[in-house]
Amino acid sequence: MSYQKKFRLDGERAVVTGGGRAIGLCCAEALAEAGAAIVVIERSEKDADEAIALRSKGYEIEVRVGDVTDSARMEEIAAEFAGSGRPATILVNNAGIGQNGIAAEDVTDADWLRMMNVNVNGVFWCSRAFGRHMVSSKRGSIVNLGSMSGNICNRPQPQTAYNVSKAAVHHLTKSLAAEWAHHGVRVNAVAPTYIETPMVASVEANKERIPIWLADTPMGRMGTPEEVASAVLFLASGAASLMTGAIVNVDAGFTCW
Ligand code: NDP
Repeated sequence: MSYQKKFRLDGERAVVTGGGRAIGLCCAEALAEAGAAIVVIERSEKDADEAIALRSKGYEIEVRVGDVTDSARMEEIAAEFAGSGRPATILVNNAGIGQNGIAAEDVTDADWLRMMNVNVNGVFWCSRAFGRHMVSSKRGSIVNLGSMSGNICNRPQPQTAYNVSKAAVHHLTKSLAAEWAHHGVRVNAVAPTYIETPMVASVEANKERIPIWLADTPMGRMGTPEEVASAVLFLASGAASLMTGAIVNVDAGFTCW
């Protein structure tokens, strides 16, 4: 028995939604380094430039343009690869949006629906589209990007819509895990703390919030996208063969307090 071999993904095809930057890009690189052929789904070809640049490391990287809220397009991409005889065996549901700082009483219908559409519907459409081929071939591994916000309520910023969307991702993870376990398909999630990505950096007000976040974090720091990708790689691989329905904290201890 080789424990290192359990982390290898040679011969697998892994789809990473939103794999063009930040956490998704690191997931694509981690899975590629382990031997998987990668399909990045982005809303525009240009968004995938950094992923395409990974080809210079000898990795097999393909890009498909699509929006995870477009269920027909997700079905089309999944069917394309299944029809090629090499269906996706790994899916990382990474694409997501943030929306912090809006008080619940000021959240518009449109804000709420957009959050649920990308963060919840998008994860389900992709899981259903790629999962149906995993179910029929009796093997597959899905890893969802949940969040510690699905377990706790962040402070000081209000972000009810995001928190609810991630709690839904966690329960979707468990529901699909229970339903598809006997088909040989595992479904897990990671629940990260604040990670240094554009999602966090693009909100000006976060600069004042960061000291509060760090004071609430036992390890006293935010995470890097690479630290999330390592956990995603583990869950995607055979090293996690007994794990399904798990929501793995990657949170610097944030949820201990
Ligand atoms: P970023 O905003 O940096 O990147 C998100 C990626 O997803 C982008 O490439 C974006 O492309 C893509 N994307 C967004 N919406 C869609 C869509 N509808 N269809 C296809 N692609 C889309 O986010 P992070 O890397 O920070 O976050 C990745 C995941 O991790 C998210 O699910 C997030 O909720 C979760 N997470 C992040 C944390 C953090 O602190 N950063 C903490 C906990 C969880 P585009 O340019 O088109 O928008």
